[in-house]
Amino acid sequence: MPHALGIDLGGSTARAAVVERVNGRVLASARVKLTSREVRDVVGELVQLASQLPPTTGAVGVAVAGMLHGGVVKNAPNLGWRDVDLGATLSSALSREVLLLNDLSAAAWGEFRAGASRGASDSLTVFVGTGVGSAVISGGALLRGATGVAGEFGHLKVVPDGGRRCGCGQEGCLEAYAGGAKLAEWMTEEGLPGRAADLEVLALSGDVTARRLYDFIASQLSLAVANQVSMLNPAVLVLGGGVLSRSPGLVTHIEAGIARWSTVAARGVRVARAQLGDDSGLVGAALLG
Ligand SMILES: [Zn+2]
Repeated sequence: MPHALGIDLGGSTARAAVVERVNGRVLASARVKLTSREVRDVVGELVQLASQLPPTTGAVGVAVAGMLHGGVVKNAPNLGWRDVDLGATLSSALSREVLLLNDLSAAAWGEFRAGASRGASDSLTVFVGTGVGSAVISGGALLRGATGVAGEFGHLKVVPDGGRRCGCGQEGCLEAYAGGAKLAEWMTEEGLPGRAADLEVLALSGDVTARRLYDFIASQLSLAVANQVSMLNPAVLVLGGGVLSRSPGLVTHIEAGIARWSTVAARGVRVARAQLGDDSGLVGAALLG
């Protein structure tokens, strides 16, 4: 069958698309705003969504923003889910095999097969949007780790003691500072107006408080990326997500961080912007399914 079905399940909306297997082109897509986060309701919405699209066969890839273990969503803060057996429930509702994927793994796979890192069998993908996430493709395969949660870049600790609380339940994670949702909270506490994506403009306009937050995020984010580049030696670093796409200065900081901190041997990494936009996870999920 030349076409595959992919689903991208976010905290407030779900999208589905039928994608050409050979090149990742989106042939048809549909979206729904979730009216409830009850598992049974969400599964019903996903079945309804899939029924609006042309028929496909084969496994369905489903990208979920959260930590997964096999077909179980261990922790998805945006959905308020812990230990939800989504894979089996959805598979039985759709009468098809379902493959659950972390949203960043799906995005990295989409960019590898049809976007910014196409043809590069070693890549690191980092998204800074509502949350902070990453995925690693090594030797042409997704790096999964022993229990499937490798690459949780957003939960690298940048403040070992007394740090800000993260959506994962721990403190001091990179995401608790640089992730759009947590950054917006931090900005509000500090009396700053606007959204996370506005911080760079505020900082560059000379606001001292904005500058302090921005400098902290820029240095921690670029240090973390540079360390991962040393660790993984990717050919391509793919950068995406709403905060990064609206903060060109952060991308410059990341490039400078690699030049300064990564091992000399790993500095040849090509830095590229994600090309598939909102579709990267959807396309990747379909192609992996
Ligand atoms: Zn965390």
